[in-house]
Formats: sequence, C-alpha cells, structure tokens
Amino acid sequence: MGEPGTTRRRCWWGWGWEDQVVSGDHLTRLAQAVAGSLGTPDLEVWPPPRLEDLVLRPARLTPPEPLAKFCAVDTYSRAAHTHGRSFSDAVRAVHGDFSVPPDVVAFPRDEAEVVAVLDWCASAGAAAIPYGGGSSVVGGVSCDVGDDYQGVVSIDLGALDQVLDVDRVSRAARIQAGALGPALEEQLRSYGYTLRHFPQSFEFSSLGGWLATRSGGHYATNYTHIDDFVESLRVVTPAGVVESRRLPGSGAGPSPDRLFLGSEGVLGIITEAWMRVQDRPVHRASASVHFPTMADGAAGARAIAQAALFPANCRLLDAGEAASAAGVTTGSALLVLGFESADHPVDAWIARAAELCADHGGVIPDGVRTSSTEGAAGAWRSSFLRAPYGRDALVQLGCIAETFETACTWDRFDELHHNVDEAVRRSLAEVCGGGTLTCRFTHVYPDGPAPYFTILAPSRHGDQLSQWNEIKTAASEAVLANGGTITHHHAVGRDHRHWYDRQRPTLFAQTLHATKTTLDPAWTLNPGVLISR
Ligand SMILES: Cc1cc2nc3c(=O)[nH]c(=O)nc-3n(C[C@H](O)[C@H](O)[C@H](O)COP(=O)(O)OP(=O)(O)OC[C@H]3O[C@@H](n4cnc5c(N)ncnc54)[C@H](O)[C@@H]3O)c2cc1C
Repeated sequence: MGEPGTTRRRCWWGWGWEDQVVSGDHLTRLAQAVAGSLGTPDLEVWPPPRLEDLVLRPARLTPPEPLAKFCAVDTYSRAAHTHGRSFSDAVRAVHGDFSVPPDVVAFPRDEAEVVAVLDWCASAGAAAIPYGGGSSVVGGVSCDVGDDYQGVVSIDLGALDQVLDVDRVSRAARIQAGALGPALEEQLRSYGYTLRHFPQSFEFSSLGGWLATRSGGHYATNYTHIDDFVESLRVVTPAGVVESRRLPGSGAGPSPDRLFLGSEGVLGIITEAWMRVQDRPVHRASASVHFPTMADGAAGARAIAQAALFPANCRLLDAGEAASAAGVTTGSALLVLGFESADHPVDAWIARAAELCADHGGVIPDGVRTSSTEGAAGAWRSSFLRAPYGRDALVQLGCIAETFETACTWDRFDELHHNVDEAVRRSLAEVCGGGTLTCRFTHVYPDGPAPYFTILAPSRHGDQLSQWNEIKTAASEAVLANGGTITHHHAVGRDHRHWYDRQRPTLFAQTLHATKTTLDPAWTLNPGVLISR
C-alpha cells in the first residue's frame, strides 16, 4: 500500500497518504475555526493511534504454503484492512479500536491466485472480503462477519492494476480490477484516452470497487456512472469464472453485467473489465450561477437536465454549502455549471443553459469562463478533492462529520428536501444541541436530482458513535419515508442493510438469495453485505 518508486505509504488508520494527514498547526487552526463556527468551547484534539501501540488479536488462520508468498499477517497490513472509510470507521480507527481485523490479507498477483485464495477460504470455512481501495463508506470491507466463520481473509486486488489491452477502433480498454484511479488514468493517458470517471474518492478507490458498488463520478449528467462505461466483465466466483461478451449493446435477455454491477463482492470477485474509454476533453466552458433560493436553483437545474444539454457539471449548492465550500457570502444558492467536449466548442451549450437559469432568477456575476479552474467553481473543486483528509481531522476533534445521499423524482424533491432537513435538524438539536446541515445536488437527471447532505455537529470523544447512530437513523428514515433511495451512489454494504431490506422488492431479495447460493454455495464472500443467509 505504497506509492511505486517512493517510500510513501498509505495511512493505516485514515484517508490517503500518511504524509498528507492534517496535523500540527493546521489541526490546531482547524479546531479553532470549527469551534467558532459551531459556537462550542475549545475542541479536544485526539492524537492519532500509533502502530507500535497496536496489539491485534492473534490471527486464527495460517495460509497454506503455496498461498503464503502473496499473503500478509503483519500488523500494518491487517490494521490497514480492518476498516473502510465511513464516519463510524473513522471514529473507531482514530480511537484505536482495531478489535475485528482480518486474520490474513491476501495480495493475489493474477487471476489464478484469486481462484486459489477463494478455494482456500471456502475449504477453511473462512469469510473472504474483496478489497479494492478500501474507500467503502458503508461497512463494505469490514471484517465483522459474526461467529459462523473460522476467520476472515481480506483479498486486496491492488496488484492487479494494469491496462492490458486497448482497442482503438472501438475505443475500449481491458483493465484489471485492482487499478486505482490515478494509475488507471496514467496508463490510459499514454494512449490519449481517459475513462473520465472521477468519484471524490478517485485517488484511493479501484475499478473493481467502482463496478462492485456502481459508483457515481464527479460529472453531474450523462456518462458519469461506472455502469455507463462497461462493455464486459470477468468475475471469479466460488462456482467458476463468468465472462460476458464484449458488446456495445445487447437485447439478449437480462444483462449478465448488470448482475455483477452493484453486487458489492457478494457474488464474485471482478478481476477485469472491458471499459469504454473516451478522448480527452479540450473544449471547456464554466460558470457560477447565483440563485436567490435553493428552490429557484433546483428549477434551473431541472430545466437544464430536461433540455438534454448534458453539462459535465451541474452541481447546485444551497446557501450554507455555497458559503463554506465556495466562499459565496450573499446567501445565494450556487449552481456550478460546466460543459466539456473532446470534439466541439461548447459555448452554445453554456449560453443556452445560462438562458434557462435566467428564466428562474439565476445570474452569473463573473460571466462565463473558458477555463474550469477559476473563480468559485475552481475553489469548490479543490476543496472537494482535499475534503476527505479534513473529515478525519474533524473526527479527531470529537465532531460528527457525516454525509448521506439519495435520489428522488423532481415531483417529490421539495417535500423530501423540506422533511429530511427538518428531521435531521431536529435530531441534531436533540442529540448534539445543534450543528449544521447543508445540501447539494451531485447529479441531475431529466426526472430527478441526487441530493447530498453534509452534517457537522459538536460531540464528544466517547459519544460520537451513539450520537451518530441516532442522527443517521433519523436521516435514513426521513429519506425512505419521502420516496428517496437509501443510497444513490454510496452503496448498501452492512450499514444500509436495515433500510435497503425495506426498499427492495421481496421477490427480488429471494432471487438475489438464490443467485448467491448458486454462485457462492458456502456463502464465503462478504457475509452480511446486501443479503443474509
Ligand atoms: C472521501 C470519499 C469520497 C467518496 N466519493 C464517492 C463518489 O464520489 N462517488 C461514489 O460512488 N462513491 C464515493 N465514495 C464511496 C467509495 O469510494 C465507492 O463506493 C467506491 O466505488 C469504492 O471503491 P473501492 O475500490 O475503494 O472499493 P472498496 O471500498 O475496497 O470495496 C467496496 C465494496 O466493493 C467490493 N469490492 C471491491 N473490489 C471488488 C472486486 N474487484 N470485485 C468484487 N467486489 C469488490 C468490496 O467487498 C466492498 O463491498 C467515497 C468514499 C470516500 C471515503
């Protein structure tokens, strides 16, 4: 878990690189700023855990000889694979709770080794947890699988990180599933291509993880979900290998790819995929549109989505988020609008989008820009990419720093927004005595938006998890009661099961159960995620 050619190492308890963790004066200044904005007394800074203090429970499994050469049982590897990156993971990790680590971490170097380690898990009665970048925010890579298993093996696909083939005629690439965002883009760049899939976790999440969770990219419309780019998949299941045919489209029955997209590691391990790639964009135009209210902004965003202009960026931030993320202090909602093309200038598209915004009270004080890295839009983008390090720091300050997201149809949006906002603020007041809640749209569709909520609240070391649990429950109940989905792109994992089980149709759950039993007869893969025995 290091950077090739350097001594740089991934942080074992939190997000990103060890050398980028917020610390020292930066952390002290953050503590003062957060205490000021939350109106609380000074916040206690909890020091990060130290590897030398960590005593993990003894490993219950020993990999057999042929597998031992690509398996690790050292403290750093086991600790680094204990948690994903949800708020509750961060609280546990910062406070040194590594009580449920994997017994073994396997780093298979080819598909045969993936097959071998899965076979070993099944014969040893162990649970196998597929691990890409480990950025799950829903308990998807946790090792808490109950008492029915003899141990837990985390299967880290990081060594499968190559672009294996490029078909220039069809403009597609065969890519191994363990490739993290930067390595994947770097290899495609040498061909002049991009996958153009940029979730906020891009730096530390993998192609296989994106496919297994149906991740949503940074772009707000059109080709942005990983699903949009899949030509075919290759998956190792305990029952054998499944490989779909490369096709641009197919009406031959239910799609085999769709069975595995979003299967969150419970049906098999995706080892590679043929992905549609794109030429790199060269034409860009962007604008920051100010609206009097969030409702006006939502009307503008809907008009743009329904006009089929397909902006790359169409992110509506409410006034609170516009102020904190983009420095807009006028109380306006902000629509971060951007168009991109590898083929043609996009001036006409942004001009038409600006007209539609104006119909709903939108104004563009700084005018349209041809570079996407200036002004409020640029400020928002850099804080977006740096934010994950800040979240760990907020946990160290004893705060509750959480995000939750959904999608709903436009006809339900006003009510959902109002009711979720009210339920969460009530919960924050009751549980934490206050806090802030902001909302933005991450994606817009012709028939509805994907609202994304951010919570920051004062708490105390020792109380964070129980308080978070109450607020998370209030938010999830309100989302479901108002016609939203329990997740638009964060996946289900273990943490969303309670609400997912109520959202999905019963017969569908039975079908999924039967499929799981066929592909994974011993229920070796990711117990507790998506479905239970
Ligand atoms: C700061 C931050 C920002 C985020 N931003 C976004 C965002 O913008 N959009 C978004 O969609 N999500 C986002 N996420 C959530 C997360 O990054 C995504 O779910 C991502 O797709 C997970 O990829 P990963 O490689 O890290 O998978 P992991 O976390 O390693 O695994 C996720 C799930 O997929 C399974 N899995 C992993 N690899 C494979 C494989 N090869 N075969 C089968 N199953 C596998 C795992 O068992 C687990 O259930 C964010 C998370 C964080 C912490």
